[in-house]
Amino acid sequence: MEESGLNQEMIELQKQFNKALSKIRSIANIKDCFHPNKSECILPIKSAHSLQRQGSLRILEKDDRGNKYLYIHTEREHNVQYDFLDLKKTGRKSATTFDGFCSFHDTELFKAIENEPEITDIDNDEHLFLHSYRSFAISFHRKFEQWKLYNSEDPEILELLQKIYSVRAIEELKIGVAAALNDFKKPKIQIDEWLINKKFSDLEYFALEYSYTVSVGCSAYITPHHLPSGKKIQMNPFSELQTSILTTVLPFSDRTIVILGAFPDDKLGCQFLDELESMKYEIQQQKFLSFFLFDGAENVVVSPKFIEKMTIKRRMEYCELLNFVADNRTPFLKFDTQKFPINYFDRYNAI
Ligand SMILES: [Zn+2]
Repeated sequence: MEESGLNQEMIELQKQFNKALSKIRSIANIKDCFHPNKSECILPIKSAHSLQRQGSLRILEKDDRGNKYLYIHTEREHNVQYDFLDLKKTGRKSATTFDGFCSFHDTELFKAIENEPEITDIDNDEHLFLHSYRSFAISFHRKFEQWKLYNSEDPEILELLQKIYSVRAIEELKIGVAAALNDFKKPKIQIDEWLINKKFSDLEYFALEYSYTVSVGCSAYITPHHLPSGKKIQMNPFSELQTSILTTVLPFSDRTIVILGAFPDDKLGCQFLDELESMKYEIQQQKFLSFFLFDGAENVVVSPKFIEKMTIKRRMEYCELLNFVADNRTPFLKFDTQKFPINYFDRYNAI
């Protein structure tokens, strides 16, 4: 019964948080083009998302008598029948759009990877760069929205925040999100310079292709807390500049592309890519990738075809693990190849 109370509390918090965030999003001044050449911008700002553009969301979603839906880890609801905090059926549009580029740059910048939706080639550095650039932009945009949320002076939002968090928690969140935004500064200058000068090979990449369609998609800049070797890193988010990995996972109609990027002066990030590349067994690599997405990304979309294949017991375990990761009071999830129960990249789980 105590469990049920906790679930209800978490659902209520999540709902209120999402409500506040969507109000913040509707305030016009968050709409700003991410491209450095602002003089070229042509308004309006477009609502877009890389997974959507590439058709990946359509591939991941499931049709329930005309209602298409998919799952994202931050959208949850109470499962009344089995009494647990379940994943919530979410529509493609509300799932993952972001207003990050003006109509000119949205079209112009991504031409090479979007004129044909499934053209992406992992041996083409321009393709790898453009996907990575957009994953970076999406995460930056999300972080900026959070910053706006916690620093808002809108009375309605203030009231919502005060209902969700204690005064001290709000102060901590403000510090955390300001630190995270600060971590974007240097990479943003660097990646913009490469974009303008077309230095697409200056990022370090590790890209993979599977010959089948996996059940997960992602476009994010993820801060890992473990290296593939299992070594713990960056356990204190405030102590120093954090290392993050530009992460793109794109399921296509008959194959899947995974692109990971790191800044060359980021030793830990490059080590992360090297260790992942040299993992001896494919299953180990797949499991680590799954762990990395599960643990780190706000922007993960999972197909119902994957989730609904599970027994109810397993689905409850999956959701319990999500609660653990989402809860700031719990320690970071530890990676253990044997014990970690999720492998999105297994051929057996192909959709
Ligand atoms: Zn623009």
